[in-house]
Amino acid sequence: MTISRKVGPHIIGGTSVPIGQPTFVKLVDVSVEYYREIRAIVGPDVLIEVRWAEPNDYQPLDDPERRAQEWWNKRKGWILAVPASDNVVYAGYNEIGDEKAEAFCLFEVERMRCLHEWDRSAAVFSLGVGCPGDIGLWGVYDPVIRAMRPRDVIDLHEYWVDNADVDNVWHVCRFTIPEIAVHLVGKRIVVSEIGRDVVESKGRPGWQHTTNAEGFLADLEKAGRKYHDQPNVVGCAVFQLGSADVRWRPFNCYGIWPTVVYDYGEAIVPAPASSADTLALVPPIDRADIVRITRGFDPAIPHYGIDYSCLVGRPVYAACDGMARVLTDTAANGGFGRYVRIETPNYRVYTAHLSEWLVDDGAQVRAGLRIGLSGNTGNSTGPHLHFEVRRNAGSSHLHGAIDPEPLIVWAVDEPPVAEPYLPTNDPFTQAASTEKERYTKIRWWIEERRRQYEAGAIAYADQIDAALIEQMYTWEGSLT
Ligand SMILES: [Zn+2]
Repeated sequence: MTISRKVGPHIIGGTSVPIGQPTFVKLVDVSVEYYREIRAIVGPDVLIEVRWAEPNDYQPLDDPERRAQEWWNKRKGWILAVPASDNVVYAGYNEIGDEKAEAFCLFEVERMRCLHEWDRSAAVFSLGVGCPGDIGLWGVYDPVIRAMRPRDVIDLHEYWVDNADVDNVWHVCRFTIPEIAVHLVGKRIVVSEIGRDVVESKGRPGWQHTTNAEGFLADLEKAGRKYHDQPNVVGCAVFQLGSADVRWRPFNCYGIWPTVVYDYGEAIVPAPASSADTLALVPPIDRADIVRITRGFDPAIPHYGIDYSCLVGRPVYAACDGMARVLTDTAANGGFGRYVRIETPNYRVYTAHLSEWLVDDGAQVRAGLRIGLSGNTGNSTGPHLHFEVRRNAGSSHLHGAIDPEPLIVWAVDEPPVAEPYLPTNDPFTQAASTEKERYTKIRWWIEERRRQYEAGAIAYADQIDAALIEQMYTWEGSLT
Protein backbone atom coordinates (compact mmCIF):
# COMPACT_ATOMS: atom_id res chain seq x y z
CA MET A 1 0.00 0.00 0.00
CA THR A 2 1.14 3.54 -0.77
CA ILE A 3 -0.24 6.53 1.08
CA SER A 4 0.41 10.06 -0.15
CA ARG A 5 2.58 12.27 2.02
CA LYS A 6 -0.22 14.81 1.70
CA VAL A 7 -2.08 12.69 4.29
CA GLY A 8 -0.89 14.15 7.58
CA PRO A 9 -2.07 13.89 11.20
CA HIS A 10 -4.63 16.00 13.08
CA ILE A 11 -3.14 16.09 16.57
CA ILE A 12 -5.13 17.18 19.61
CA GLY A 13 -3.04 18.04 22.67
CA GLY A 14 -0.08 15.92 21.60
CA THR A 15 0.94 12.38 20.74
CA SER A 16 3.99 10.22 21.00
CA VAL A 17 3.25 8.25 17.86
CA PRO A 18 5.79 8.79 15.05
CA ILE A 19 4.47 11.23 12.46
CA GLY A 20 7.15 10.95 9.80
CA GLN A 21 7.41 13.53 7.04
CA PRO A 22 3.95 14.53 5.78
CA THR A 23 3.42 17.78 3.86
CA PHE A 24 0.86 19.07 6.36
CA VAL A 25 0.20 18.77 10.10
CA LYS A 26 -2.66 20.18 12.13
CA LEU A 27 -2.18 20.91 15.83
CA VAL A 28 -5.08 21.69 18.18
CA ASP A 29 -4.70 22.96 21.75
CA VAL A 30 -0.95 22.49 21.96
CA SER A 31 1.79 24.46 23.72
CA VAL A 32 4.31 26.55 21.84
CA GLU A 33 6.89 24.07 23.04
CA TYR A 34 5.03 21.17 21.46
CA TYR A 35 4.73 23.13 18.24
CA ARG A 36 8.52 23.55 18.27
CA GLU A 37 8.98 19.83 18.85
CA ILE A 38 6.83 19.00 15.85
CA ARG A 39 8.56 21.67 13.78
CA ALA A 40 11.95 20.13 14.64
CA ILE A 41 10.68 16.75 13.45
CA VAL A 42 9.04 17.77 10.18
CA GLY A 43 11.48 20.50 9.19
CA PRO A 44 10.92 24.07 8.01
CA ASP A 45 9.09 23.34 4.73
CA VAL A 46 6.06 21.54 6.14
CA LEU A 47 2.91 23.62 6.60
CA ILE A 48 1.56 23.44 10.15
CA GLU A 49 -1.94 24.64 11.01
CA VAL A 50 -2.66 25.64 14.61
CA ARG A 51 -6.10 25.90 16.17
CA TRP A 52 -7.62 26.24 19.61
CA ALA A 53 -10.91 24.60 20.47
CA GLU A 54 -13.35 27.10 21.96
CA PRO A 55 -14.56 26.00 25.42
CA ASN A 56 -18.03 24.40 25.09
CA ASP A 57 -17.91 25.24 21.38
CA TYR A 58 -18.83 28.84 22.26
CA GLN A 59 -18.21 30.65 18.97
CA PRO A 60 -20.20 33.89 19.19
CA LEU A 61 -20.78 35.97 16.06
CA ASP A 62 -23.17 38.59 17.48
CA ASP A 63 -20.64 41.37 16.89
CA PRO A 64 -18.31 39.67 14.39
CA GLU A 65 -15.47 42.19 14.22
CA ARG A 66 -15.25 42.60 17.99
CA ARG A 67 -15.37 38.80 18.37
CA ALA A 68 -12.49 38.50 15.90
CA GLN A 69 -10.46 40.95 17.96
CA GLU A 70 -11.28 38.96 21.09
CA TRP A 71 -10.04 35.86 19.31
CA TRP A 72 -6.81 37.63 18.42
CA ASN A 73 -6.23 39.07 21.91
CA LYS A 74 -6.68 35.64 23.46
CA ARG A 75 -4.21 33.96 21.07
CA LYS A 76 -1.64 36.61 20.20
CA GLY A 77 0.79 35.69 22.98
CA TRP A 78 1.05 32.19 21.57
CA ILE A 79 1.11 33.32 17.95
CA LEU A 80 3.79 35.97 18.42
CA ALA A 81 6.02 33.44 20.20
CA VAL A 82 6.39 31.69 16.85
CA PRO A 83 8.49 33.58 14.28
CA ALA A 84 6.67 35.27 11.40
CA SER A 85 8.96 33.40 9.02
CA ASP A 86 7.65 29.98 10.11
CA ASN A 87 5.46 28.11 7.64
CA VAL A 88 2.40 28.14 9.89
CA VAL A 89 -1.25 29.21 9.54
CA TYR A 90 -3.81 29.89 12.27
CA ALA A 91 -7.40 28.65 12.10
CA GLY A 92 -10.28 30.37 13.89
CA TYR A 93 -13.81 29.21 14.58
CA ASN A 94 -14.71 25.67 13.59
CA GLU A 95 -17.44 24.46 11.20
CA ILE A 96 -19.72 27.50 11.41
CA GLY A 97 -23.15 26.71 9.97
CA ASP A 98 -24.33 28.05 6.64
CA GLU A 99 -27.02 30.20 8.25
CA LYS A 100 -24.33 32.36 9.87
CA ALA A 101 -22.20 32.69 6.73
CA GLU A 102 -22.47 36.47 6.41
CA ALA A 103 -21.50 37.27 10.00
CA PHE A 104 -18.79 34.63 9.81
CA CYS A 105 -17.27 36.34 6.75
CA LEU A 106 -16.98 39.63 8.67
CA PHE A 107 -15.31 37.70 11.48
CA GLU A 108 -12.82 36.02 9.15
CA VAL A 109 -11.88 39.23 7.34
CA GLU A 110 -11.19 41.01 10.62
CA ARG A 111 -9.34 37.99 12.05
CA MET A 112 -7.09 37.97 8.96
CA ARG A 113 -6.48 41.71 9.33
CA CYS A 114 -5.21 41.15 12.89
CA LEU A 115 -2.91 38.35 11.74
CA HIS A 116 -1.63 40.28 8.73
CA GLU A 117 -0.83 43.29 10.90
CA TRP A 118 1.79 41.10 12.57
CA ASP A 119 2.80 39.38 9.33
CA ARG A 120 1.09 36.14 10.37
CA SER A 121 -1.08 33.96 8.13
CA ALA A 122 -4.55 32.49 8.34
CA ALA A 123 -6.31 29.25 7.53
CA VAL A 124 -9.73 30.62 6.69
CA PHE A 125 -13.20 29.06 6.92
CA SER A 126 -12.61 25.60 8.51
CA LEU A 127 -15.92 24.66 6.93
CA GLY A 128 -17.64 21.35 7.62
CA VAL A 129 -18.46 18.73 5.00
CA GLY A 130 -19.91 20.02 1.77
CA CYS A 131 -23.20 19.11 0.14
CA PRO A 132 -24.96 20.20 -3.05
CA GLY A 133 -26.99 22.81 -1.16
CA ASP A 134 -23.77 24.75 -0.46
CA ILE A 135 -23.04 26.03 -3.92
CA GLY A 136 -24.76 29.39 -3.51
CA LEU A 137 -22.72 30.16 -0.39
CA TRP A 138 -19.44 30.53 -2.22
CA GLY A 139 -20.53 33.92 -3.53
CA VAL A 140 -21.08 34.97 0.09
CA TYR A 141 -17.56 33.82 0.97
CA ASP A 142 -15.89 35.83 -1.81
CA PRO A 143 -14.96 38.87 0.37
CA VAL A 144 -12.91 36.59 2.62
CA ILE A 145 -11.16 35.01 -0.35
CA ARG A 146 -10.37 38.46 -1.77
CA ALA A 147 -8.80 39.52 1.54
CA MET A 148 -6.41 36.57 1.53
CA ARG A 149 -2.67 37.05 1.10
CA PRO A 150 -0.42 34.50 -0.65
CA ARG A 151 0.56 32.66 2.54
CA ASP A 152 -3.05 32.27 3.76
CA VAL A 153 -4.87 29.04 2.95
CA ILE A 154 -8.46 27.93 2.47
CA ASP A 155 -9.36 25.37 5.14
CA LEU A 156 -12.07 22.78 4.50
CA HIS A 157 -13.14 19.62 6.31
CA GLU A 158 -14.18 16.56 4.36
CA TYR A 159 -15.59 13.27 5.64
CA TRP A 160 -16.99 10.19 4.00
CA VAL A 161 -19.25 7.31 4.97
CA ASP A 162 -17.44 4.29 3.54
CA ASN A 163 -14.80 3.42 0.97
CA ALA A 164 -17.20 3.82 -1.97
CA ASP A 165 -18.21 7.26 -0.69
CA VAL A 166 -14.62 8.49 -1.14
CA ASP A 167 -15.60 8.75 -4.81
CA ASN A 168 -18.39 11.21 -3.99
CA VAL A 169 -16.85 14.49 -5.10
CA TRP A 170 -18.99 16.42 -2.62
CA HIS A 171 -17.28 14.52 0.19
CA VAL A 172 -13.72 14.36 -1.18
CA CYS A 173 -12.25 17.19 -3.28
CA ARG A 174 -15.42 19.31 -3.54
CA PHE A 175 -13.24 22.28 -4.52
CA THR A 176 -12.81 20.61 -7.93
CA ILE A 177 -16.52 21.07 -8.69
CA PRO A 178 -16.44 23.82 -11.34
CA GLU A 179 -18.99 26.06 -9.56
CA ILE A 180 -16.77 26.07 -6.45
CA ALA A 181 -13.39 25.99 -8.19
CA VAL A 182 -14.14 29.28 -9.91
CA HIS A 183 -14.10 31.01 -6.48
CA LEU A 184 -10.76 29.48 -5.46
CA VAL A 185 -8.51 30.20 -8.42
CA GLY A 186 -4.90 30.62 -7.32
CA LYS A 187 -5.60 29.78 -3.66
CA ARG A 188 -3.84 27.12 -1.61
CA ILE A 189 -6.14 24.62 0.10
CA VAL A 190 -5.77 22.46 3.19
CA VAL A 191 -8.33 19.81 4.13
CA SER A 192 -7.62 19.95 7.82
CA GLU A 193 -10.05 17.23 8.91
CA ILE A 194 -10.71 14.05 6.98
CA GLY A 195 -12.00 10.60 7.92
CA ARG A 196 -15.15 8.51 8.29
CA ASP A 197 -18.11 10.19 9.96
CA VAL A 198 -21.83 10.74 9.67
CA VAL A 199 -22.29 12.58 6.38
CA GLU A 200 -25.65 13.69 5.05
CA SER A 201 -27.40 11.42 7.58
CA LYS A 202 -25.49 8.29 6.58
CA GLY A 203 -22.58 6.49 8.26
CA ARG A 204 -21.39 6.39 11.86
CA PRO A 205 -19.22 8.86 13.83
CA GLY A 206 -15.70 7.44 13.54
CA TRP A 207 -14.10 4.82 11.31
CA GLN A 208 -13.85 2.28 14.12
CA HIS A 209 -17.64 1.87 14.03
CA THR A 210 -17.74 0.72 10.43
CA THR A 211 -14.38 -0.77 9.48
CA ASN A 212 -11.05 -2.11 10.75
CA ALA A 213 -7.53 -0.77 10.41
CA GLU A 214 -7.09 -2.34 7.00
CA GLY A 215 -10.33 -0.82 5.74
CA PHE A 216 -9.55 2.67 6.97
CA LEU A 217 -6.02 2.52 5.58
CA ALA A 218 -7.59 1.66 2.22
CA ASP A 219 -9.77 4.77 2.60
CA LEU A 220 -6.69 6.90 3.27
CA GLU A 221 -4.86 5.44 0.31
CA LYS A 222 -7.79 6.19 -1.96
CA ALA A 223 -8.58 9.68 -0.63
CA GLY A 224 -4.86 10.50 -0.42
CA ARG A 225 -4.47 9.74 -4.12
CA LYS A 226 -7.24 12.21 -4.94
CA TYR A 227 -5.73 14.99 -2.83
CA HIS A 228 -2.27 14.15 -4.11
CA ASP A 229 -3.36 14.84 -7.69
CA GLN A 230 -4.57 18.36 -6.86
CA PRO A 231 -1.63 20.77 -7.11
CA ASN A 232 -3.40 23.49 -5.08
CA VAL A 233 -3.89 21.11 -2.11
CA VAL A 234 -1.02 21.48 0.34
CA GLY A 235 -2.18 18.53 2.38
CA CYS A 236 -4.94 17.06 4.52
CA ALA A 237 -5.10 15.94 8.16
CA VAL A 238 -6.74 12.74 9.41
CA PHE A 239 -8.94 13.26 12.47
CA GLN A 240 -7.53 12.37 15.04
CA LEU A 241 -4.51 11.58 17.23
CA GLY A 242 -4.00 12.44 20.87
CA SER A 243 -7.47 13.33 22.19
CA ALA A 244 -8.71 11.84 25.47
CA ASP A 245 -12.27 12.94 24.67
CA VAL A 246 -14.53 9.85 24.48
CA ARG A 247 -16.50 11.40 21.63
CA TRP A 248 -13.43 11.20 19.41
CA ARG A 249 -12.32 7.72 20.47
CA PRO A 250 -13.85 5.96 17.42
CA PHE A 251 -11.77 8.32 15.26
CA ASN A 252 -8.52 7.49 17.05
CA CYS A 253 -5.66 6.72 14.66
CA TYR A 254 -2.97 5.92 17.22
CA GLY A 255 -2.85 2.24 16.30
CA ILE A 256 -2.74 2.73 12.55
CA TRP A 257 -0.52 5.80 12.27
CA PRO A 258 2.80 3.94 12.21
CA THR A 259 1.46 2.04 9.19
CA VAL A 260 0.42 5.26 7.46
CA VAL A 261 3.90 6.64 7.97
CA TYR A 262 5.51 3.38 6.91
CA ASP A 263 3.44 3.43 3.71
CA TYR A 264 4.24 7.01 2.76
CA GLY A 265 4.88 7.02 -0.94
CA GLU A 266 7.20 9.78 -1.96
CA ALA A 267 10.85 9.89 -1.08
CA ILE A 268 11.50 11.56 2.25
CA VAL A 269 13.82 14.58 2.33
CA PRO A 270 17.32 13.13 2.10
CA ALA A 271 19.56 13.29 5.11
CA PRO A 272 22.22 16.00 5.14
CA ALA A 273 25.89 15.28 4.48
CA SER A 274 27.32 12.51 6.59
CA SER A 275 29.66 14.95 8.34
CA ALA A 276 26.68 15.69 10.58
CA ASP A 277 27.09 12.18 11.99
CA THR A 278 30.27 12.81 13.92
CA LEU A 279 28.37 12.78 17.23
CA ALA A 280 30.26 10.64 19.74
CA LEU A 281 28.22 9.19 22.59
CA VAL A 282 29.31 7.73 25.89
CA PRO A 283 27.37 4.56 26.83
CA PRO A 284 24.04 5.47 28.49
CA ILE A 285 24.38 2.44 30.76
CA ASP A 286 27.32 0.49 32.17
CA ARG A 287 28.28 -2.49 30.05
CA ALA A 288 28.18 -4.72 33.13
CA ASP A 289 24.54 -3.78 33.81
CA ILE A 290 23.31 -4.91 30.41
CA VAL A 291 21.65 -8.33 30.66
CA ARG A 292 21.34 -8.42 26.88
CA ILE A 293 20.12 -6.25 24.03
CA THR A 294 16.56 -7.37 23.46
CA ARG A 295 15.92 -5.18 20.45
CA GLY A 296 18.27 -3.20 18.26
CA PHE A 297 17.64 -0.29 15.91
CA ASP A 298 15.44 -1.87 13.25
CA PRO A 299 13.03 0.30 11.25
CA ALA A 300 11.49 -2.88 9.78
CA ILE A 301 10.00 -3.93 13.15
CA PRO A 302 9.69 -0.88 13.58
CA HIS A 303 11.97 -0.02 16.49
CA TYR A 304 13.92 3.22 16.45
CA GLY A 305 16.30 2.74 19.36
CA ILE A 306 18.19 0.10 21.30
CA ASP A 307 16.62 -1.81 24.21
CA TYR A 308 19.14 -2.67 26.89
CA SER A 309 17.54 -5.27 29.14
CA CYS A 310 18.68 -4.60 32.70
CA LEU A 311 17.52 -4.63 36.31
CA VAL A 312 15.49 -1.78 37.77
CA GLY A 313 17.55 0.90 39.51
CA ARG A 314 20.80 0.74 37.50
CA PRO A 315 22.45 4.11 36.75
CA VAL A 316 21.64 5.79 33.43
CA TYR A 317 24.02 8.40 32.03
CA ALA A 318 23.84 11.42 29.74
CA ALA A 319 25.31 10.16 26.47
CA CYS A 320 26.44 13.62 25.40
CA ASP A 321 26.61 17.26 26.53
CA GLY A 322 23.40 19.24 26.23
CA MET A 323 20.26 20.43 27.93
CA ALA A 324 18.30 17.78 29.83
CA ARG A 325 14.54 17.69 29.57
CA VAL A 326 12.72 15.64 32.23
CA LEU A 327 9.55 14.23 30.68
CA THR A 328 6.78 11.64 31.02
CA ASP A 329 4.73 9.74 28.47
CA THR A 330 1.91 7.49 29.66
CA ALA A 331 1.72 3.84 28.71
CA ALA A 332 -1.76 4.47 27.32
CA ASN A 333 -0.17 6.81 24.84
CA GLY A 334 2.38 4.17 23.86
CA GLY A 335 5.00 6.22 25.58
CA PHE A 336 8.46 6.35 26.99
CA GLY A 337 7.25 6.44 30.61
CA ARG A 338 9.65 8.55 32.62
CA TYR A 339 12.44 9.68 30.37
CA VAL A 340 15.20 12.20 29.88
CA ARG A 341 15.83 13.87 26.55
CA ILE A 342 19.21 15.53 26.04
CA GLU A 343 18.99 18.31 23.48
CA THR A 344 21.90 19.54 21.40
CA PRO A 345 21.74 21.87 18.38
CA ASN A 346 21.76 18.87 16.02
CA TYR A 347 20.42 15.92 18.01
CA ARG A 348 17.96 14.71 20.61
CA VAL A 349 19.06 11.78 22.72
CA TYR A 350 16.45 9.76 24.64
CA THR A 351 16.81 7.49 27.65
CA ALA A 352 13.39 6.01 28.41
CA HIS A 353 11.36 3.82 30.82
CA LEU A 354 13.30 5.16 33.84
CA SER A 355 12.25 4.42 37.41
CA GLU A 356 13.68 7.72 38.67
CA TRP A 357 15.10 10.97 37.38
CA LEU A 358 18.32 12.31 38.88
CA VAL A 359 18.48 15.60 37.00
CA ASP A 360 16.40 18.77 36.92
CA ASP A 361 14.36 19.77 33.90
CA GLY A 362 16.32 22.30 31.85
CA ALA A 363 19.71 21.52 33.42
CA GLN A 364 22.84 21.71 31.28
CA VAL A 365 24.57 18.33 31.59
CA ARG A 366 27.90 16.88 30.55
CA ALA A 367 28.32 13.46 28.98
CA GLY A 368 28.61 10.77 31.63
CA LEU A 369 26.49 12.50 34.28
CA ARG A 370 24.02 10.22 36.07
CA ILE A 371 20.61 11.43 34.93
CA GLY A 372 18.33 8.63 36.14
CA LEU A 373 17.81 5.03 37.15
CA SER A 374 16.65 2.28 34.84
CA GLY A 375 13.07 1.07 35.18
CA ASN A 376 9.95 -0.31 33.59
CA THR A 377 7.69 2.74 33.14
CA GLY A 378 5.58 3.62 30.12
CA ASN A 379 5.06 1.15 27.32
CA SER A 380 7.55 -1.40 28.60
CA THR A 381 7.14 -5.13 29.06
CA GLY A 382 10.09 -5.68 31.32
CA PRO A 383 12.87 -3.64 32.91
CA HIS A 384 15.02 -2.12 30.19
CA LEU A 385 16.56 1.09 28.97
CA HIS A 386 15.35 2.33 25.60
CA PHE A 387 18.05 4.47 24.01
CA GLU A 388 17.22 6.52 20.94
CA VAL A 389 18.88 9.28 18.93
CA ARG A 390 17.05 11.63 16.57
CA ARG A 391 18.76 14.04 14.23
CA ASN A 392 17.03 17.41 14.11
CA ALA A 393 17.75 17.77 10.40
CA GLY A 394 16.01 14.46 9.85
CA SER A 395 16.98 11.11 8.41
CA SER A 396 15.20 8.65 6.19
CA HIS A 397 13.57 7.17 9.32
CA LEU A 398 10.67 8.31 11.46
CA HIS A 399 11.29 11.27 13.76
CA GLY A 400 14.74 11.64 12.15
CA ALA A 401 15.88 8.59 14.10
CA ILE A 402 19.32 7.18 13.42
CA ASP A 403 21.06 4.04 14.62
CA PRO A 404 22.84 5.04 17.84
CA GLU A 405 25.05 1.98 18.06
CA PRO A 406 27.85 3.13 15.69
CA LEU A 407 28.04 6.42 17.62
CA ILE A 408 28.60 4.88 21.05
CA VAL A 409 32.18 4.69 22.22
CA TRP A 410 32.31 1.59 24.45
CA ALA A 411 35.11 1.40 26.98
CA VAL A 412 35.45 -2.32 26.31
CA ASP A 413 36.42 -3.72 22.94
CA GLU A 414 33.18 -5.26 21.77
CA PRO A 415 29.80 -3.58 21.76
CA PRO A 416 26.99 -5.72 23.16
CA VAL A 417 25.16 -7.83 20.61
CA ALA A 418 21.44 -7.63 19.96
CA GLU A 419 19.24 -10.63 20.54
CA PRO A 420 15.55 -10.57 19.69
CA TYR A 421 13.26 -9.84 22.61
CA LEU A 422 11.67 -13.18 23.48
CA PRO A 423 9.99 -15.01 26.39
CA THR A 424 13.24 -16.91 26.92
CA ASN A 425 15.36 -13.80 27.47
CA ASP A 426 12.94 -11.28 28.93
CA PRO A 427 14.00 -10.83 32.57
CA PHE A 428 10.41 -10.10 33.53
CA THR A 429 9.16 -13.40 32.13
CA GLN A 430 12.11 -15.22 33.64
CA ALA A 431 11.30 -13.75 37.04
CA ALA A 432 7.68 -14.98 36.93
CA SER A 433 7.45 -17.61 39.67
CA THR A 434 3.79 -17.97 40.62
CA GLU A 435 1.21 -19.60 38.40
CA LYS A 436 -0.61 -16.28 38.05
CA GLU A 437 2.53 -14.40 37.00
CA ARG A 438 3.33 -17.05 34.43
CA TYR A 439 -0.20 -17.01 33.00
CA THR A 440 -0.02 -13.21 32.77
CA LYS A 441 3.24 -13.37 30.83
CA ILE A 442 2.02 -16.18 28.55
CA ARG A 443 -1.09 -14.22 27.74
CA TRP A 444 0.94 -11.09 27.06
CA TRP A 445 3.32 -12.91 24.74
CA ILE A 446 0.46 -14.54 22.83
CA GLU A 447 -1.02 -11.07 22.32
CA GLU A 448 2.37 -9.65 21.40
CA ARG A 449 2.84 -12.45 18.89
CA ARG A 450 -0.46 -11.51 17.25
CA ARG A 451 0.40 -7.79 17.25
CA GLN A 452 3.74 -8.47 15.60
CA TYR A 453 2.12 -10.82 13.09
CA GLU A 454 -0.50 -8.22 12.19
CA ALA A 455 2.23 -5.58 11.88
CA GLY A 456 3.89 -7.77 9.28
CA ALA A 457 6.84 -8.95 11.42
CA ILE A 458 6.12 -12.58 10.54
CA ALA A 459 9.59 -13.97 11.25
CA TYR A 460 9.70 -12.29 14.66
CA ALA A 461 6.20 -13.56 15.47
CA ASP A 462 7.39 -17.09 14.65
CA GLN A 463 10.40 -16.64 16.94
CA ILE A 464 8.08 -15.58 19.76
CA ASP A 465 5.97 -18.68 19.11
CA ALA A 466 8.94 -21.03 19.33
CA ALA A 467 10.41 -19.31 22.38
CA LEU A 468 7.05 -19.33 24.14
CA ILE A 469 6.69 -23.08 23.67
CA GLU A 470 10.28 -23.58 24.87
CA GLN A 471 9.58 -21.45 27.94
CA MET A 472 6.40 -23.37 28.75
CA TYR A 473 8.30 -26.69 28.49
CA THR A 474 10.84 -25.28 30.96
CA TRP A 475 8.13 -24.26 33.41
CA GLU A 476 6.34 -27.56 32.93
CA GLY A 477 9.57 -29.41 33.68
CA SER A 478 9.98 -27.48 36.91
CA LEU A 479 6.65 -28.80 38.23
CA THR A 480 6.93 -31.80 40.49
ZN1 LIG B 1 12.63 0.23 22.76
